[in-house]
Amino acid sequence: MKDGGNSTGGVDRALHGDERFVHVMESLQRSMDEQQWRTWFRDVRLDSWSDGQLRVLLPNRFYQEWFQSKFHDRVRQAAERASEGPVQVVFLVPADEDASTTTTTTTTASSTPTFVAELPARPPVGAQLPADDLFDATPLNPHYTFENFVTGPSNEMAYASARGVADDPGTNYNPLFIHGAVGLGKTHLLHAIGNEFLRRFPQQRMCILSCEEFTNAFIHALGHNQVDAFRERLRRVHLLVIDDIHFLANKERTQEEFFNTFNRLHHMGCQIVLSSDAAPSDIPALKERLVSRFTWGLVTCLEQPETETRMAILSRKAQHFGVPLAPEVVEFIAAHFRSNIRELEGAVQSVKARAEIEGVPVDLALAERALSGLIRLPERKLDLETIAAAVCAHYQVEVNDLKSRRRTRNISVPRQVCMCLARELTHLSLQEIGTWFGGRDHTTVLFGVQKTEERMRQDPRLAQLLGRLRDRLGAA
Ligand code: ADP
Ligand code: MG
Repeated sequence: MKDGGNSTGGVDRALHGDERFVHVMESLQRSMDEQQWRTWFRDVRLDSWSDGQLRVLLPNRFYQEWFQSKFHDRVRQAAERASEGPVQVVFLVPADEDASTTTTTTTTASSTPTFVAELPARPPVGAQLPADDLFDATPLNPHYTFENFVTGPSNEMAYASARGVADDPGTNYNPLFIHGAVGLGKTHLLHAIGNEFLRRFPQQRMCILSCEEFTNAFIHALGHNQVDAFRERLRRVHLLVIDDIHFLANKERTQEEFFNTFNRLHHMGCQIVLSSDAAPSDIPALKERLVSRFTWGLVTCLEQPETETRMAILSRKAQHFGVPLAPEVVEFIAAHFRSNIRELEGAVQSVKARAEIEGVPVDLALAERALSGLIRLPERKLDLETIAAAVCAHYQVEVNDLKSRRRTRNISVPRQVCMCLARELTHLSLQEIGTWFGGRDHTTVLFGVQKTEERMRQDPRLAQLLGRLRDRLGAA
């Protein structure tokens, strides 16, 4: 980051101007280890120093709280030595700094955790731990809010419970356990809870961290005789959010520690929120008593978003990235990126980049060019006849039945499966697919696609069947 050509991480004279302040920084640097120095003091700047008042500029509020409680006396003493007189030390943050706008980069040293945001209302009193070694601080993602979360049948239950928890922590569902596959919005919801909690309860303390971070911090504490401090620090929060708790799999000692922290916080009525890529009982080698704790409150699941939700998310992301997308482009992307919302976002960005490079507006042809390398379209383009033949062979029906008006279940199910595969594996628009199916209109096709998705959610065998059909068609 900002090393100012000062690669050793030492005190940069050009940045600190005032000779006395350079002395202060140098003496502080000598009094702590390299890691601690880099973590906390690298971005510290002098604001002003006159009339016995030293004003120090810090990157954000988190630093401010932390400096107030941890480094105030040290800075003051160093300043008094440097100026040979009493000094009042004031820690400042940039004027527009508040919890929702902190944007400190998270790309610090490799051993540092993925994220932690802890914003104590008051400086923690009496905590003796050199916690800067235990936890590194980066803020909540301010974009991961409830307002920015698009809901549909696949996620509204998880969304509503997350909201419930943020509105009334510790009361309704404790713990709240959200699970779902990668890229479906777990981290987003967790941060939304954090953002909302901070907005509503600025006087309370929260801690949000990844399970990996929890584990690393615990191991570090073990190795440095700081386990008590580690516990103390975690047990003074009103809201504890741990992302990707499945990371506890097979880590017995950390599970044990987490179990104790959990019990203590739960007992005190603190809200606990957890996310995982699997339901509690499906996390490998998770101790039974943790599995049972995790189900005390509410277990809720994020499913793959259905077509309409994907389209809504796409429109929202397109707005966010400033690329207006025509309906047929939204439809095209939604059809080809089905399982992961992060990929949907990536697709919008690729389309945007391509439009900028080529200097042309976004249309369907551009989207196809931009995404050709990413989508799993089969090498040779599949036509609907081929797809229909495979579907009909499985269900033992005739292609003409699919095109007919017949609506008995033994025909309508294969017809809708076929529509779903056609949507995914061909370039045809909903309208063109409708035409092929005996002149049906595009809403009928969309309905068929949605119906099939819904059935797949209820019946895993159907999902497997579609997988096999894709295989057979060379499209998997
Ligand atoms: P996970 O933690 O489950 O792997 P993330 O929370 O990181 O997934 O979500 C991946 C991306 O998709 C994020 O940028 C997130 O904002 C976005 N996202 C996920 N679900 C939604 C949704 N329902 N509405 C809007 N954006 C979403
Ligand atoms: Mg995540």
